[in-house]
Amino acid sequence: MTVLVLGDQLTRRAGPLAARPDERVLMIEARAFAARHAYHPHKRTLVASAMRHFRDALREDGRPVDYHETATFGDGLDAHFDAHPGDDLVVMRPASYGAADRLRDLVETRGGTLRVVENELFCCSPADFDDWYDGGALRHEDFYRYMRRETGVLMEGDEPVGGEWNYDEANRETPPDDYEAPDVPTFDPDATTRSVQDDYADVNAGTWADPEPFGWPVTRADALAALDDFVTHRLPDFGPYEDAMVEGEPMLDHALLSAPLNLGLLGPREVVDAAVEAYDERDDVPIESVEGFVRQVLGWREFVRHAYRVGMPDLADANRLDATRDLPDLYWSGDTDMACLDAAVAGVRQRGYAHHIQRLMVLSNFALLYGVDPHELNRWFHVAFVDGYHWVSTPNTVEMGQYAADLFATKPYAASANYLDRMGDYCDGCPYDPDATVGADACPFNALYWDFPAANEDALRSNHRMGLVYGHLDDKRDAGDLAAIRERATDVRAATDDGESPRTE
Ligand code: SF4
Repeated sequence: MTVLVLGDQLTRRAGPLAARPDERVLMIEARAFAARHAYHPHKRTLVASAMRHFRDALREDGRPVDYHETATFGDGLDAHFDAHPGDDLVVMRPASYGAADRLRDLVETRGGTLRVVENELFCCSPADFDDWYDGGALRHEDFYRYMRRETGVLMEGDEPVGGEWNYDEANRETPPDDYEAPDVPTFDPDATTRSVQDDYADVNAGTWADPEPFGWPVTRADALAALDDFVTHRLPDFGPYEDAMVEGEPMLDHALLSAPLNLGLLGPREVVDAAVEAYDERDDVPIESVEGFVRQVLGWREFVRHAYRVGMPDLADANRLDATRDLPDLYWSGDTDMACLDAAVAGVRQRGYAHHIQRLMVLSNFALLYGVDPHELNRWFHVAFVDGYHWVSTPNTVEMGQYAADLFATKPYAASANYLDRMGDYCDGCPYDPDATVGADACPFNALYWDFPAANEDALRSNHRMGLVYGHLDDKRDAGDLAAIRERATDVRAATDDGESPRTE
């Protein structure tokens, strides 16, 4: 019997590694897998370095680890079964749809067996979710309250701590002009990380130009230090400024824990408990900060995992607005004069990261209004973000960001410069006018924002949550303004398609 450990299951505290402390361990670092897409180099380095560090930590504990660096995953299994013919493998269920079946085929064709056990890297098991979900409308808020009740997190008996379940409205402040967020910790590459960087230096070289030095946590100790730093320094302001966007503050007060969480270096319950403990023991952590953080981890992260599980395989192919445009090259090149997009893409290019409101309201929002094929955008999020995996990016991008599926989103997350200017300060330094809709200097988001409901009237007018938007659209149509707005939207798309500035119309 051998415990197979996948690259995003790097924990000794759960699953078969915890249950079978004396068994041999198999890990496979498949180079072809890493080269299959134009992954951001920080992501490739993060995953491979975390795997090698985990291997070394297991060996230091005295566990036998067969670690194969091979071209393909199948090659690694060949090497394993050459050494251990007919071996029985046990693995935690992979998070990606269909991966367990593919793994089993690979193992069985080599004469082995594969036992797939519960993935314990989440708080809510599939059985518990399926007991809760009755197959009707799938709503995050309902699931979140269920999770709070089930776990007792931020609960006083049957009631939520503070009296409210959700402090979302207190998460929309913007910081003062002179605000400086605490520095975020970076973890300098050690010899293991540098060897990974050397090994993959030629893979997709040039796609991501010149990222900043790698600094993501790659070990359990690093990850715990990152958690402690967040809880100590950034948790207090995290809640009030959760939805803010600030020029020169690409991390603001965000936790930056999704990457180590999604690798298994941290467990979701321990990060939730750390935040709640800080709230209980300190006076500087407001309820909107701890509740906002708990909502992200215990609520949203668990919710999208199950939405993905329930929604696949249809979710991956959904495209209810029939959006078919190519992803603009600016998402790769960063070549745009739109200040909000420029900042968000720059963060991705530099470190494989943009915070959640940049992801939803800038990167996804522009793609939605522009009419990008949701699956092109999903691929981009998957390869570009250090925390992007298919189970994460698909529900967040295809459904939440692009309104392409009908599992849980109740309206498209579309916004004009009005929202972006209110929640961020990028417009101050942007060559476009956030208050204008037509004309060469008008913010491109604005014409696209009004073109979007006009172009998708058949799909969206009957949605009662779009009533206000269609009321305003009708006013613009009646006033004779809509034709010019749609013409401006066409010009914006044409210029962007050509890699030109929408100001050159
Ligand atoms: Fe973004 Fe428009 Fe504001 Fe420029 S004016 S930063 S493009 S929202």
